[in-house]
Amino acid sequence: MEKSDRNPARDRELGMDRPITRRDFLNGMAMGAGGIAASSLVPGFALAADESATLPQNAPGYYPPTLTGMRGSHDGSFAIAHALRDGKFWETAGTPVNTRETYDLVVVGGGLSGLAAAYFYRAKNPAARILILDNHDDFGGHAKRNEFHTRGRLLLSNGGTWAIESFFPYSKEAHGLMTELGIDPPALERKCHDQTAYKGLSYACFFNKETFGTDKLITGVPHSGGKQSATSWTDFLATAPLSEDAKRDIVRIEEAKVDYMPGLSQAKKKDRLSRMSYKDFLLNVVKAHPDVVPFYQTRTHDLYGVGIDAIPALDCWAIEFSGFQGLGLDRVPSPRLSFTALGFVTPDQPPYFFHYPDGNASIARLLVRALVPAAVPGHTAEDIVTARVDYSKLDAEGSPIRIRLNSTAVGVKHVGESASAKEVEIAYGSGKQAFTVRAKGTVLACWNMAIPYICPELPDKQKEALHYGVKVPLVYSTVAVRNWTAFQNLGMQRVICPGMYHTDVFLNSAVNIGEYQSPKSAEDPMLLHMTRTPCMPGLSARDQQRAGHYELLATPFETFERNIRDQLGRVLGAGGFDPARDIEAITVNRWPHGYAYEYNPLWDADWPVGQRPCDIARQRFGRIAIANSDAAAAAYTDQAFDQAYRAVQELLAI
Ligand SMILES: Cc1cc2nc3c(=O)[nH]c(=O)nc-3n(C[C@H](O)[C@H](O)[C@H](O)COP(=O)(O)OP(=O)(O)OC[C@H]3O[C@@H](n4cnc5c(N)ncnc54)[C@H](O)[C@@H]3O)c2cc1C
Repeated sequence: MEKSDRNPARDRELGMDRPITRRDFLNGMAMGAGGIAASSLVPGFALAADESATLPQNAPGYYPPTLTGMRGSHDGSFAIAHALRDGKFWETAGTPVNTRETYDLVVVGGGLSGLAAAYFYRAKNPAARILILDNHDDFGGHAKRNEFHTRGRLLLSNGGTWAIESFFPYSKEAHGLMTELGIDPPALERKCHDQTAYKGLSYACFFNKETFGTDKLITGVPHSGGKQSATSWTDFLATAPLSEDAKRDIVRIEEAKVDYMPGLSQAKKKDRLSRMSYKDFLLNVVKAHPDVVPFYQTRTHDLYGVGIDAIPALDCWAIEFSGFQGLGLDRVPSPRLSFTALGFVTPDQPPYFFHYPDGNASIARLLVRALVPAAVPGHTAEDIVTARVDYSKLDAEGSPIRIRLNSTAVGVKHVGESASAKEVEIAYGSGKQAFTVRAKGTVLACWNMAIPYICPELPDKQKEALHYGVKVPLVYSTVAVRNWTAFQNLGMQRVICPGMYHTDVFLNSAVNIGEYQSPKSAEDPMLLHMTRTPCMPGLSARDQQRAGHYELLATPFETFERNIRDQLGRVLGAGGFDPARDIEAITVNRWPHGYAYEYNPLWDADWPVGQRPCDIARQRFGRIAIANSDAAAAAYTDQAFDQAYRAVQELLAI
């Protein structure tokens, strides 16, 4: 439910006029004017012949992690790519400036895959000269860091990639990279995760009046987030604003052991479940009352980016949703599960999990430290958390490895015939200008759907395959609040809000690592995470994702802010929270191109081995190799590493 209307009295109540840190400010200076956050076609910095002197990242005080307001794919990061897509870039940019720079490798995309590609390449070729280009003002891709300094305290959160987690064991190469960076996830988890911080605080559900007829907060959701609650479903639902039919059927879905598909073999049951959505399963197989749907609709949002209308029932069985307990299904892998769901039923996986306070941005920072040591002080996988990156060192003249931000690749082509060329030329747009560099090879670790526009010489079949996946849009909003006494007063740490603008609100994970200490007392400032997934039930998953992408780009920060204030006021108000008084800063991490597209058995074909779109899309073409988690059709860090490794080996084999 969106609050987009301006209502001056309500806006004042919510604190829309309060001077919080929410705009794009860097050390007190707006970055829009002549800077990197302008939203014109090609924003402000015209790079001259001596580029490095005028690179935005070399400006004094440049430190994107502390920027608030609209982040993620921030204004200015996609204008060039969209102009290229619309065939308008070159008419504005004119003839590119030849920088005369030559490299062994140019990597397009400074996310975890691109940074890892540079790392793997250098490991085999220690003297290599490498340039990494990224269109954002910060490195890391989705693995971005949100850094707040509030009342003398450093608070960190992830702007995207949340944690090291393994649904399948990390490959030898991905695990080897982690080890070389000094990251031992299970050991760090044991040492640094504070398991007691929110002890006694349960999960809650907020029923909002637009969806359920009245606003109502109920704590103690049974079995939520893998956590047991003393409450039974009947007790939990007793005061819920739901019809008696819905309450009865939710209890049945959650607790009854009924075989709703009698007489069918396991294989037949699984096959049928893979061809219907979880919503259809609830309505047509369990025969639940339609009033249960709003309660379950958004449950798959954070993992899949779409609701239960677009996720196969078999996937929902695998990720341990309810309703299947009487079907007698063995938890063994099935070929008609999506990548994520398959991971849930793959047995005997060693524990491999760690959440850094800034998510996997710490991995990106460790990779940058390994590649450009002068830019990142410190030595360990723990001190990285509080290290302050010197962005002016990332693209230093004479450095063997250079990371150039605010630079969008717009053209990649062989110099001569692809089969015999010795070099590729990479054109990129930055500021109002295009530039070219040359390299012996390139790894395109950027979003795969952009590659056909950048690299028109690829075969048509490959370009079609690169276009197939539609990345999943989603938003992680981070809100700095004065304290979290409202959560404590209400006895909760996380609130699921099935009908609201953000469908989830929770306290920042408690992690103490190196010199970084999470808030201890409820009187301390705290970061809240809020998740929004824009989707349009009723369409195919890919069409929902396209619609969500456009919605995110068309939604101004003000709309997010109003919705955040309204939602937190209503959800936490009974605990004493006042959005006008208690909100100190807001960062909206907007990802119109979020998770890599995973194949969805409801709509995608059963391609033969090696014939999935990503298999065709990631073929090396001459001296151009393709990485990114898109190349695996799997939105996970280890997949990003594996694809980087493969792409680099392909180039090295030439
Ligand atoms: C909100 C969110 C949460 C996630 N949480 C997790 C998690 O908890 N665990 C997990 O394992 N995975 C998670 N993921 C998946 C995550 O995407 C991967 O783990 C990994 O970070 C992907 O890295 P990548 O380098 O393949 O892609 P990206 O991180 O997308 O990096 C690609 C980079 O290339 C840039 N680029 C694109 N086009 C161009 C161009 N033309 N020129 C220059 N640069 C370009 C992009 O802007 C981007 O910076 C999450 C993703 C999102 C969006």
